[in-house]
Amino acid sequence: MLSANSGIPNKNEIPAIGYDSKPTCNATIFLIDFASILHTHAMKTPHRQGFTLVEIMIVVAIIGVLAAIAIPNFVKNRRESQRRACIENMHLIMTSAENWRTENHMAMIGDNWKTELVGPANYIKVEPTCPCGGTYTVTVSDEEGLEQVVVTCSHAEDMQHVLPPED
Ligand SMILES: [Zn+2]
Repeated sequence: MLSANSGIPNKNEIPAIGYDSKPTCNATIFLIDFASILHTHAMKTPHRQGFTLVEIMIVVAIIGVLAAIAIPNFVKNRRESQRRACIENMHLIMTSAENWRTENHMAMIGDNWKTELVGPANYIKVEPTCPCGGTYTVTVSDEEGLEQVVVTCSHAEDMQHVLPPED
């Protein structure tokens, strides 16, 4: 009746209780059987370690939602700050070119803007570069006799690197 290993009777070894069993034995057998159930339950439930798949999936889903919200904003802010930096560069080139023209009897400036404007002894000490890798073009427009320096970035169309018109 008792198993050799645990000293607790195996469920299969406990005889079925019927109406013909002796009433005095029923309570004892029930207690022993209940103890064996508790014992096997404790043995079959190991100590939990780590996370379940569902818990990991919930965490991954939360991170995914947060990333979906944060990443587009981050990309948008970065693009906008790059655009503003480029406009600042173009404004610097334009004002420097206008000053250079005033000093040089309104000489024309174009592809020579880097050699004329950039350098340790010139208006711009370090050559300004577009944060998005665009290239600057300097021209002098002549609209109705009013000459004006126009600076454009090659990312004018795709990234709106456009110098706003002065008031
Ligand atoms: Zn640019």
